[in-house]
Amino acid sequence: MSEQQYDVVILGGGTAGYVSAIRASQLGKKVALVEQALLGGTCLHKGCIPTKALLKSAEVMHTITHASEYGVDVDDFKLNFSRIQERKAEVVNQMFNGVNHLMKYNNIDVFNGIGRILGPSIFSPQSGTISVEFEDGESELIPNKNVLICTGSTPVSLPFLPFDHEVVLSSDDILKLEQLPNKLAIIGGGVIGLEFASMMTDFNVEVTVIEAGERILPTESKHIAKSLKKELTARGVQFFENTHLTENDVKVMDNHIDITINDKTYTYDKLLVSIGRKPNTDDIGLNNTKIKLSESNHILVNDFQQTEDSHIYAAGDCIGKLQLAHVGSKEGITAIDHMFEQQPLPVDYMTMPKCVYTQPEIASIGMHLDEAKAQNIKARTYKVPFKAIGKAVIEDTNNQNGFCEVVIDQDNDTVIGLNMIGPHVTELINEVSLFQFMNGSTLELGLTTHAHPSLSEVLMELGLKVENRSIHV
Ligand SMILES: Cc1cc2nc3c(=O)[nH]c(=O)nc-3n(C[C@H](O)[C@H](O)[C@H](O)COP(=O)(O)OP(=O)(O)OC[C@H]3O[C@@H](n4cnc5c(N)ncnc54)[C@H](O)[C@@H]3O)c2cc1C
Repeated sequence: MSEQQYDVVILGGGTAGYVSAIRASQLGKKVALVEQALLGGTCLHKGCIPTKALLKSAEVMHTITHASEYGVDVDDFKLNFSRIQERKAEVVNQMFNGVNHLMKYNNIDVFNGIGRILGPSIFSPQSGTISVEFEDGESELIPNKNVLICTGSTPVSLPFLPFDHEVVLSSDDILKLEQLPNKLAIIGGGVIGLEFASMMTDFNVEVTVIEAGERILPTESKHIAKSLKKELTARGVQFFENTHLTENDVKVMDNHIDITINDKTYTYDKLLVSIGRKPNTDDIGLNNTKIKLSESNHILVNDFQQTEDSHIYAAGDCIGKLQLAHVGSKEGITAIDHMFEQQPLPVDYMTMPKCVYTQPEIASIGMHLDEAKAQNIKARTYKVPFKAIGKAVIEDTNNQNGFCEVVIDQDNDTVIGLNMIGPHVTELINEVSLFQFMNGSTLELGLTTHAHPSLSEVLMELGLKVENRSIHV
C-alpha cells in the first residue's frame, strides 16, 4: 500500500489523463497517474501523432509527384517506406520523451501497471482506492480522495471478421506495416478510414473505401463529404457507399482477402477495418462503484465530468462524447477544476474544433446546415470559395474546389457553425475557435485585418460577406 494519500489518482495516461495530471499538479495537489502501457496513449502512439507524421510524408510524395506543375522537374525519386516509418517513430519518441519529462517536472507519481477501482474496504469507507497490478505480478494499493477515469478506447472489429493483424487490420496494426500493400480495402468511410485512404493513395497504393451508410463522412456536411469524395476519386480512390458487407462477402486467405461487392469479387492485400472504437470500461472495477454506463458502455457523467459516485470523474474517449484528443484534455481539465473547486465552465461541445487531415483538409465547428434544420433552427449559410483567395491559388492551382461556409441562426444573427475544406484548414479553424470563445460577431471577424496573402483571409471575407460588404466575392 502506498504510504501517501493522493488528492487524485488518474487511471489512464493518454491525452486526457496526463493533461489532467498536470492541471491537478498546477493546483498544488498530490497526483498519481496509472498507465498500463505507454504515457501518451492512443493519440501519441496509435492515433493523432503517428498518422499525421505519415500524412506529412504522403504530402511530400504528392508534392514531388506534381513538382513539375510548380516548374521543378524531378527526374528520379523513390518512396522509402522504412525511412517514412523511422521518421514517424522519431516524431513519436520526441513527443513521448516530452510527456515523460512533464510528469517529472510536475512531480506526478507514475505507476506503470493495470489499475482497477476497489469498493469500500477497511482502507477507505468509500469506493475508489486504486489497485495497481504490475507486470511482475506484484500489486499496490493507492488510497486517494478522488479518482479521474481516462481509460480511453480501442478499435472495434466486425462481428464476422476478427482482426488477424496480418490481413485484417485495425488502425493500430496498419501503423506498424513494414511494407506498403499494393491494394488496400478500407471498411468504414469515417475520419480514420479516410485519412488512411488519402495517405495510402498518395503512397501509390490502390485504395477502395467501403461504407455501409449512404455517404462517407456522416459527421460533416454533405457538401464537404461530396467535395472530398470528388478529390479522392480524382486521385484514384474507389468508393462503394450504401454497401453493407456480410460474412458471405469476405474470404480471408493466407496473404490476401477476397471481397464481393455487387456480385463482383475484388482481391486486396490488406483490409483496414475502421468502423469505430469501444470504450475501455470492462475490466476497471466499475462494478465496485455506483457508476452508470450508457448502452454503448461509455461512462455517464454530468456537465462537470462527475459520475454517480461524486468523487469519481471521467473524461476522454471512455465517456464517448467527441472522441478527439483536445476534447479529452478539455474534459479532463474541467474535471480537475471542478474536483478542486475552481468553478470551471462546462465543456461546450459546440465550440470544439473537429478536423480531418485528408488532402484536402476538412475542419468544422458547431452545426452544419442539415443539423440546424433537423433542430428546427432558421439557419442560413454564406460561402467563400478558396479560389477567391490568392494564397490558396498559390498553394495549388489545380485544387481550387475548397470553400469556407458559415451557418447563421437567423433569429438572433449568431454563428452556430462553420465548416471548410481546403488547404491548411486544420490550422484556420483555431481562429474560429477563438472567435467563438470570445463571442465574436461576423462584423468583428470581417473588420479584423488579415495579412495578405494568407489563407486566413478567407475568414475575413466570410465575415464581410455575412455583413453584405465582401470585397473579393
Ligand atoms: C488512427 C487515429 C487517429 C486519430 N487522430 C486524431 C487526431 O488527429 N486528432 C484528434 O484530436 N484525435 C485523434 N484521434 C483520437 C484520439 O487519439 C483520442 O480521442 C484520444 O487519444 C483519447 O484520449 P484518452 O486519454 O481519452 O484515451 P487514450 O489515448 O486511449 O488513453 C487511454 C490510456 O489509458 C490506458 N489504460 C486503459 N485502461 C487502463 C487501466 N485499467 N490501467 C491503466 N491504464 C489503462 C491505456 O493504455 C491508454 O494509454 C485519433 C485516433 C485514432 C485511432
